[in-house]
Amino acid sequence: MYQSQYFIPTLKEIPNDAQMPSHQLMLRAGLIRQIAAGVFSWLPYGYKILKKVQDILREELDAIGGQEFLLPALNPKEIWDQTNRVEAMGDVMFHLKNRDNLILAPTHEEIIAYHASQSIKSYKDLPQIWYQIQNKFRNEPRPKSGVMRGRQFLMKDSYSLDASEEGLDISYEKHSLAYHRIFERCGIKFFVVGASSGAMGGSKSQEFMVENSFGEDTCAVNYESGYSSNMEVAVSYVQPLGRIENSPEYEKFATPNAKTINELAEQFELEVNTCAKSVVYVVDSELVLILMRGNDELNESKLQSFFETNQTRPAEEDEIVKCFGANPGSLGPINIKTPIKIYADNLLKDANGLVSGANENGFHFKSIDLLRDCKIEGYSDFRTVIAGEADILSGKPLKVVNAIELGHIFKLGTKYSNALGAKILDENGKEKPIVMGSYGIGVERILACIIEQNHDEDGIVWDKDLTPFHIHILGLAYDKSEIVQDSCNQLKSELEKLRLEVLLDDRKERPGFKFKDADLLGIPIQVIIGDRGLSEDKVELKFRKSGEKIEVKTTDILNHITKFYNI
Ligand code: ATP
Ligand code: MG
Repeated sequence: MYQSQYFIPTLKEIPNDAQMPSHQLMLRAGLIRQIAAGVFSWLPYGYKILKKVQDILREELDAIGGQEFLLPALNPKEIWDQTNRVEAMGDVMFHLKNRDNLILAPTHEEIIAYHASQSIKSYKDLPQIWYQIQNKFRNEPRPKSGVMRGRQFLMKDSYSLDASEEGLDISYEKHSLAYHRIFERCGIKFFVVGASSGAMGGSKSQEFMVENSFGEDTCAVNYESGYSSNMEVAVSYVQPLGRIENSPEYEKFATPNAKTINELAEQFELEVNTCAKSVVYVVDSELVLILMRGNDELNESKLQSFFETNQTRPAEEDEIVKCFGANPGSLGPINIKTPIKIYADNLLKDANGLVSGANENGFHFKSIDLLRDCKIEGYSDFRTVIAGEADILSGKPLKVVNAIELGHIFKLGTKYSNALGAKILDENGKEKPIVMGSYGIGVERILACIIEQNHDEDGIVWDKDLTPFHIHILGLAYDKSEIVQDSCNQLKSELEKLRLEVLLDDRKERPGFKFKDADLLGIPIQVIIGDRGLSEDKVELKFRKSGEKIEVKTTDILNHITKFYNI
């Protein structure tokens, strides 16, 4: 490919509304252009590499027996009404004003279940894995990270159809392995976390995550031990307080100037962890008290999964005062004016020797014994893990990181097949719903994550295994020198014979300009060919990743390149 004829509109300046490095570089290196918030055009250089990502997806999905579909983005609303997801999706779903019986599909579980209901009748027809690489439409509220969060974006979505839960386990496992291979082949450093499947419905799901400071999820990870978890469920090796031998009666003491655990511990020389902090929540409109160890933070997601509801909120001060007869800062599990249910974090399990509020302003109790002095309805893990705590696998410190979700695998079960009447007859002639799984990967997100992890201040740094072109030949003063032209073109055709893809910068530009553009485009090897070098039979090779430059004899170029690409 001659660069003079190729449409790669590079930008010198960093576009000021783009914050993520991948977003900036995709604009600057001419991969994409934005035409509306969250809506992007892929330009040739970007689409070239995006197709290679799609090739990897296809190869790995085909390898687990996937069959490729192409489902329409326009979906009959009627089908979606059967699962009530038009309502559940709310404003995320795009509706059409002049055709209100159609919607723009944000995902395709319904259509898959619909096709299965039409054509699959027997357990003998299963298992099936159906996939597609297709545009999804989601009215994301604040699309601001480039193609990482588009309103129209490409998803590889696959769906497994099985006759039993055991069958689903196998299809799920196949996808998990395929996902590992896909992200490894893309050279992305990722980790996997178990997640709640939320509005999708279903029992088990996992998310493939990439550490990134712009990520909207928070996770606890230890790359060495392999521990990784969403903060919503993360645990660490912090051990319960346990019991002490000496357990006198609890006793009230005045604490007029201690409103926080730290003030209390400091003024009365207490161990912070022996203080039980009272956290008051409203759960399904009922007030509950949760005791936490010292300064431990309550994790609302853990609270919600314990109570199996998402109707939770911290209690307001007036609700607290009315119930406890005291202000926050003096609350505790004993002598509550209007008794409510008390729960406690696992780290306080059956503990004694605790200090907590006396439900009287300015007073606390000491020597509280949770077994003896109050009724704890239940213990659970309610606390938020903290960075630096020992992980449960290796005891080494955990990192708490922001992360981006790159892929998601769900065991859907029978929610969609039941709703759409996708049934089979089993071995005994009994009617059963098809057991489904659903598996998604953001195709553009893969590319954005690759760039997030592979760039420097000069531009993108493609890996040799996944790059738009293999070699970037920079012809210096190409327009003026016939020797340079001949040498460039000869090398180009020799490389192309080896099935390597070559971009030849034959533009009428100054060398400095070409060097900058080449670093920005990030092709793994640059071959710099100029009159001066050629006069000594030499050219320069630059390896983009290491920045290493070497002078080689013209006769040795091919050797260096074939060695680099292992061919
Ligand atoms: P997020 O929490 O980031 O919004 P999601 O939970 O909505 O993701 P899924 O519905 O599981 O995502 O979609 C499958 C995959 O599609 C995601 O793992 C992600 O890689 C990709 N994806 C989701 N939303 C977008 C988007 N707006 N733009 C680009 N890719 C997306
Ligand atoms: Mg989303």
